Amino acid sequence: MYDVIIVGAGPGGIFTAYELATKSNLKIAVFEKGKELSKRKCPIDGKNIKTCINCPICSIMNGFGGAGAFSDGKYNITNNFGGTLYEYIGREKAIDLMNYVDEINLKYGGKGTKKYSTSGSSLKKICMQNKLQLLDAEVRHLGTDKNYIVLENLYDLLKEKVDFYFDTDVIKIETEKDLYKVYTKDKTYTAKKCIVSVGRSGSKWMEEVCKSLDIKTRSNRVDIGVRVEIPAEIFSHITDELYESKIVYRTEKFEDNVRTFCMCPKGVVVTENTNGIITVNGHSFDEESKKTENTNFALLVSKRFSEPFKDSTEYAESIAKLSNMLGGGVIVQRFGDLERGRRTNEKRLKSSTTRPTLAATPGDLSLALPKRILDGVIEMIYALDKIAPGTANDDTLLYGVEVKFYNMDVEVDENLETKYKGLYIIGDGSGVTHSLSHASASGVYVAERIIEERW
Ligand SMILES: Cc1cc2nc3c(=O)[nH]c(=O)nc-3n(C[C@H](O)[C@H](O)[C@H](O)COP(=O)(O)OP(=O)(O)OC[C@H]3O[C@@H](n4cnc5c(N)ncnc54)[C@H](O)[C@@H]3O)c2cc1C
Repeated sequence: MYDVIIVGAGPGGIFTAYELATKSNLKIAVFEKGKELSKRKCPIDGKNIKTCINCPICSIMNGFGGAGAFSDGKYNITNNFGGTLYEYIGREKAIDLMNYVDEINLKYGGKGTKKYSTSGSSLKKICMQNKLQLLDAEVRHLGTDKNYIVLENLYDLLKEKVDFYFDTDVIKIETEKDLYKVYTKDKTYTAKKCIVSVGRSGSKWMEEVCKSLDIKTRSNRVDIGVRVEIPAEIFSHITDELYESKIVYRTEKFEDNVRTFCMCPKGVVVTENTNGIITVNGHSFDEESKKTENTNFALLVSKRFSEPFKDSTEYAESIAKLSNMLGGGVIVQRFGDLERGRRTNEKRLKSSTTRPTLAATPGDLSLALPKRILDGVIEMIYALDKIAPGTANDDTLLYGVEVKFYNMDVEVDENLETKYKGLYIIGDGSGVTHSLSHASASGVYVAERIIEERW
């Protein structure tokens, strides 16, 4: 019997546990289907295992630290993207909490990392003059290495105060009077409060829980596109000043919004496995010796469906599966080849002056991506070429497909509480957040509500 059970040890779960453990005497347990941080290991070693082998529990997405554990650790402090937490808790409160999370990250190992800001940037005007919009934000870049150290330190602190159950999949949650019963394979645990923070990888399970408890949900959008890789010099005037910039372009042809996402200066392109589907992502390191000669970022177009087809996730999964079928995983294509309507082959890729940081299959993205999305991406590359000449070079590499899945929106109130008193759904699993900072802030917020409440 616990006071509070937290399901999922991603940023949402960790920050809930941190706040509760450091500011109350409540008895807390965290259930996590992945492993503890030091035991998380992706089998891809580049020699014997070169591509994803679909482990039953993916070590990149699951375990202490959640999906963000090996990420670039970019904590964006803004209401302009990364989630809609502000719609529930107010703009000011959301920013306060993201700043608070930043303080904790600095306290536990992030000291010395740089915070970038768009405020006063001359790039804003240059963007506007070229039909582009730069979204306002501050970003703390921890880097993959420091992000890991922060998680290690938080775990060292928390393991003394909280009961962690790793390799423990929560199968179902039931309500019984004012208590929550949390079922795992071997045992059932009970708590007065239950906080569910299962992230993107827990989306299908979250759907089942909502169905069984009759909690309303609404389908969310999906973002589809490519990851662009260019020599770092081309974007250095932008990344040196802002590190991560979210730039939006409205296409002339379809009036769709295309946006940059997850900019990784001097970083690497990586694969990502979501429920067995291989997509592309990127990250970069804070440590000088690990930096590469390239910068990468995603260009994404949002899609949402209503009638008769509602499942935007299924749509994006089908596109990703198509690219997996054609390329055996991720496809890479030179921009020049795409523009000339021909596939990139080994020979053309070898002659590219931009050297790929990911061993992807050279191919033809136009066979996998819908025309509307591809046209939007191409238009945006030319628009970016005006503020960063060289972006539209023939040797610019495009990896596909990149998909940003969003969980369905779960019906929660201004406390992020469901219609059941004491059952909270937070982080990316709730559809409310889509980022490290928002997910972490949602955890602190719920912990505050629980501490405030008289028991
Ligand atoms: C490669 C990569 C790079 C990224 N880079 C950035 C970045 O730089 N900046 C940024 O803002 N965001 C980034 N993100 C997104 C960010 O990681 C997520 O937004 C964030 O981790 C969400 O936190 P969360 O706690 O809601 O969920 P998650 O981090 O997904 O954690 C959920 C946890 O719940 C566990 N779980 C799921 N189901 C169950 C169950 N039934 N029982 C028990 N445990 C369960 C999972 O194993 C997981 O560990 C990146 C994501 C990836 C994959």
